[in-house]
Amino acid sequence: MLVRCLYASRAVEPIAVGALDRILEKSRKNNFPRGVTGLLCYSNGTFVQALEGGREIVSDLLGTIYSDNRHSGLQVLMFEEIAERHFGNWSMGRVNLDTVNSASLLKYSIRAELNPFNMPGSATLALLMELAAAGSIASRG
Ligand code: FAD
Repeated sequence: MLVRCLYASRAVEPIAVGALDRILEKSRKNNFPRGVTGLLCYSNGTFVQALEGGREIVSDLLGTIYSDNRHSGLQVLMFEEIAERHFGNWSMGRVNLDTVNSASLLKYSIRAELNPFNMPGSATLALLMELAAAGSIASRG
């Protein structure tokens, strides 16, 4: 049974590029053998991550990520059974918001900034799908 989980959280302190790279590197190393795919986006202290894979595996991984003390206030925006993956090309892709047209953000939010806590989960998912389709994923892994 395939599922997709979408969550948002807040970094406990600003994440430097190197620290984000380390999270992505570890994620790719762990996710690939488990058949987990997805995207991770970090902007202004906010994380948004989409995880796709087997229900038990994604549930376990969410528990691990929830306990990670580099972030807090994790809110699950969406957890659904899916027929197919949207982000199957990435063992964990990084969304590069620097390259994103502000119109894409404004399409789904009140301001041209990432604020998943004030958006429906479906809108955040739609934004990630649009960014993936527009080639705004910095690295595939
Ligand atoms: P290790 O890497 O050995 O880590 C052991 C423990 O140390 C863990 O509890 C970990 O939380 C903590 N830790 C490790 N490095 C640091 C550090 N630099 N600072 C503080 N604490 C640290 N993991 C995945 O496998 N897949 C993902 O998709 C994924 N996404 C993540 C998204 C976010 C926003 C964050 C913050 C973390 C994510 N992680 C992901 C990392 C995850 O929370 C665990 O750290 C990781 O899975 C543990 O890997 P490991 O079992 O090899 O243990």
